[in-house]
Amino acid sequence: MTFTQVYNKLLKHYGHQDWWPAKTSFEVMVGAILTQNTAWTNVERAIARLESRACLTPQAILDAPLSELTECLKPSGYFNLKAQRLRNYCQWYINAGELPCLSCIDTDALRKQLLMVNGIGPETADAILLYAFERPVFVIDAYTRRIFSRLKLLAGDAPYEVLQDQFETGLQTDVAVFNEYHALIVCHAKDACKKCPGCIDCCLSYICPSCKR
Ligand code: SF4
Repeated sequence: MTFTQVYNKLLKHYGHQDWWPAKTSFEVMVGAILTQNTAWTNVERAIARLESRACLTPQAILDAPLSELTECLKPSGYFNLKAQRLRNYCQWYINAGELPCLSCIDTDALRKQLLMVNGIGPETADAILLYAFERPVFVIDAYTRRIFSRLKLLAGDAPYEVLQDQFETGLQTDVAVFNEYHALIVCHAKDACKKCPGCIDCCLSYICPSCKR
């Protein structure tokens, strides 16, 4: 079994996911920061609040009183922490020249810069790189670890960059595939390969060594 075979099966079963659900690149960035430790529906509510108060630009987020910003972010949880992280990110983003300047930086250098922003870890940085900057980096999250360790394609407790390297060398470098694959992983983790796996209805059951059918 290969990463490509799993991808093909997931795509056939679930279809295209059309990620990232956002209107602009900056909204992708905001969503990637707010989605830490919360469900996407909560992020959507927080983004809608930011938008309704004309706060969905980097400068508006920096200019907004902290109380107003935290009020907008409440639905996403950890709102004080996320307000600070969002401000850190916006300050960096503006100082770095926003999308036109950052788009000219090569992927490794841009990733290093993102990781230097307080509150931005590898998963968030890679989600921003892939979905906002359209760079070919594979996003590793808890769902990826869970599914692919059950498929015995990787060790779920291996360091982030080791797992990322396994995906990136096991697949053809293709932004569209990386985009779709991560979205399909999230979909599969919610639909079948949950904490308590639903193997009976799983589209991977015939190739999964951990299947409990
Ligand atoms: S067969 Fe079960 S353990 Fe394997 S991927 Fe499907 S749900 Fe997960």
